[in-house]
Amino acid sequence: MSKCWTVRDESGNLLAILDSLKDATLLLEDYPQPETYLIITEDCASAVGELRRYIYERDECKCVACGQGLTLSQMYMHERKNRGQGGVRSRENCETLCFYCNLRAAH
Ligand SMILES: [Zn+2]
Repeated sequence: MSKCWTVRDESGNLLAILDSLKDATLLLEDYPQPETYLIITEDCASAVGELRRYIYERDECKCVACGQGLTLSQMYMHERKNRGQGGVRSRENCETLCFYCNLRAAH
């Protein structure tokens, strides 16, 4: 089981997933009132699953590019700014894409 660091608000809502405590701390510097958030270490797969479900429901279960309705298992959680470019797995940086739009976004 691989571990990651998550940023959660006071109600326990998952906002972002980071690979290290340092990255999580850096991310919080951009949030208003950073002292009101929690940084927790937890199982990476379950945190990613939770973020994925949130993104999917927020985007109303459809591809944000072409509007196609998707099931949770069909959706691709796309990072607008990819992690190689300093993007993070966060609510702000992730969106729901279908298979084809995700392919197009990757090239
Ligand atoms: Zn699409």
